[in-house]
Amino acid sequence: MMSGDAEVALDAGALLAESPVWDGREGVLRWVDILRGEVHRYDPSGGLDTHSAFGEPVGAVALREGGGLLLAVGRGFATVEQDGDALSWLWRDGRGDRMNDGKCDPAGRFWAGTMADERHPGGASLYRLDPDGHVEEALPAVTMSNGLGWSPSGETLYYVDTPLERVDAFDYDLSAGTISRRRTLVDLRAADGRPDGLTVDADGGLWVAMAHGGAVRRYTSGGVLDHVLTLPVPMVTSCTFGGPELADLYITTASEEALHPGAVDRPHAGGIFRAALGVTGMPATPYRG
Ligand code: CA
Repeated sequence: MMSGDAEVALDAGALLAESPVWDGREGVLRWVDILRGEVHRYDPSGGLDTHSAFGEPVGAVALREGGGLLLAVGRGFATVEQDGDALSWLWRDGRGDRMNDGKCDPAGRFWAGTMADERHPGGASLYRLDPDGHVEEALPAVTMSNGLGWSPSGETLYYVDTPLERVDAFDYDLSAGTISRRRTLVDLRAADGRPDGLTVDADGGLWVAMAHGGAVRRYTSGGVLDHVLTLPVPMVTSCTFGGPELADLYITTASEEALHPGAVDRPHAGGIFRAALGVTGMPATPYRG
């Protein structure tokens, strides 16, 4: 039985906080403020949050096996030294406006997608970056590439293209890094808000952040809703499990005012929230390149 409320872990005041990743090596939460081009390091033990700024939008951050970080930044991929601020570009030819959500598969490949500009729906793609630096356009005709997550076995990829208002599943070939047999797992057209980031827990449940919906929803791997965690702000963007036992759900949020001029923010909008729900996550796989 899941219970527990979301509390403010860090009153970050972010414009668009996203891509929370638990870095078990240091016991810190990495996260990005996309619109400020910042990569943050939040240490829950002391409460200290520090960041590096990169001068262009950072859609997602991943850990690297050899140390340092991998970023989906601008329209491409770059590495950066631990807590450094100099980008080493790997590739920067993504289609669309900018990189958005990204995550490593269980074999250490990095997946991230772009966002199309408003006049060109379908003008974005989902990309796969292999450890040898090869970039594959894995899924074209995407509009707003968002949440990614793998089942505990690694045999299913869950994916959100936000305007479709659903969570899709693909068969995932973990040895080749290829996707097939796309189908709808959850139809969210009738739900409050639109699906954004997601994470998968150790039992295979999906936690889906609902932008404009003020909630994170848990679905079973069969697509059945079995828990709703409500938050005091509407722009809920993504989530991941962190803490020493991976038992704390960290949730990123955004400033509604920043995204929709004229809107008035609730207190703690753009903050990082945390909830202990009696559920644990899986450790983030680092990029093996
Ligand atoms: Ca997002």
